[in-house]
Amino acid sequence: MTPQTASRILRFTESIIRDMTRIANQYQAINLSQGFPDFDPPGELIQAAVGALRSGHNQYGLTWGTQRFREALAQKAGRFMNLPINPDTEITVTCGSTEAMLASLMAVVNPGESVIIFSPVYENYFPGTVLAGAEPIYVPLYPPEYTFDPRELRGAFKKTDAKALILCNPSNPTGKVFTLEELSLIAELAYAHDAFVITDEVYEHIVYPPHQHTYMASLPDMFARTITCSSLSKTFAVTGWRVGYAIAPAEVTEGIRKVHDYLTIGAPTPFQEAAVTALNFPDHYYQDLLTKYKQRRDLFLDYLDRAGLQYTQPQGAYYVMVDISPFQMEDDTSFCYWLAREIGVAAVPGDSFYPYLQSPTGLIRLHFAKSESLLMEAGERLLKLEQYT
Ligand code: GLN
Repeated sequence: MTPQTASRILRFTESIIRDMTRIANQYQAINLSQGFPDFDPPGELIQAAVGALRSGHNQYGLTWGTQRFREALAQKAGRFMNLPINPDTEITVTCGSTEAMLASLMAVVNPGESVIIFSPVYENYFPGTVLAGAEPIYVPLYPPEYTFDPRELRGAFKKTDAKALILCNPSNPTGKVFTLEELSLIAELAYAHDAFVITDEVYEHIVYPPHQHTYMASLPDMFARTITCSSLSKTFAVTGWRVGYAIAPAEVTEGIRKVHDYLTIGAPTPFQEAAVTALNFPDHYYQDLLTKYKQRRDLFLDYLDRAGLQYTQPQGAYYVMVDISPFQMEDDTSFCYWLAREIGVAAVPGDSFYPYLQSPTGLIRLHFAKSESLLMEAGERLLKLEQYT
């Protein structure tokens, strides 16, 4: 007999998103699957990182984040969230928002308790919930607006006495931005059922007008029960730096810090130091970021239109869900393999965002966090799809 691995890991597969990056490399396809930029962060940030490495920031920092980073973050996040944030007691700096979410789940959810998750869902939340020993309860978001049915959300809270709800806003993979009305209902139910809301707001600065981002923690009475997870990855094009954070009330932060300390000890010290430069950027940085993403979105959607593809217009983030049902492929994954091999574009199969579904969704996710020239190249390739429908 050889020792067996734990049963919890049988409940989830390896990341399909990262798997599709491997497929993209195998077929030398343009990688519009795993959502990360092909462009560099602003030059000042690279300078700041080199400077941090050269000036001795190469050892462990304080486990919950360097003082300078937390102070700069408290200022920046406080400004956008319109809330006072205490850098000493309400911030934990983590290895990306991924660790912030996992540490938060482990800090607030007991084994056997339920966690409400909207679906389609960013693939990390299911393994995160399982690793915390909890059970996911899915509440569907219905296309084309990807909104939820209030009765179903009420029912989920009532039936399961959920301990937490995970909210990805702006949403990956749909690009949905939750309205104030939707957020208010979530807040009302979380309050009534004494549940936490754990957010993933990594696309907070990529919201296309007229849509607007509202921070859950900024709604009345919600700071006390909200854990705001976010990171610098998407806002500053530094997905490899692994600098994220959780903002939560002091008593909750204490628990998150304990878990975080034993999970990773700390996020990379030199990159926290360099990130202070990013957090001090003036407001026009965020306006320019949005202008550029809007240009990329419009350029890419124009190609999808010309290729005759149907999709849901993203309101935020940099993903678009595309309808592949006219192609009559066996399933979403076969389509993605075919697309990478024959057309030279890699996408993520839609069913990977519906962990409880056994059937194809007829959807794929493409992202447009790429330079305009690469998006044009990908767009030209996608135009060839017209001949297959
Ligand atoms: N957030 C990015 C995406 O959804 C990358 C995530 C990942 O590597 N799994 O594509």
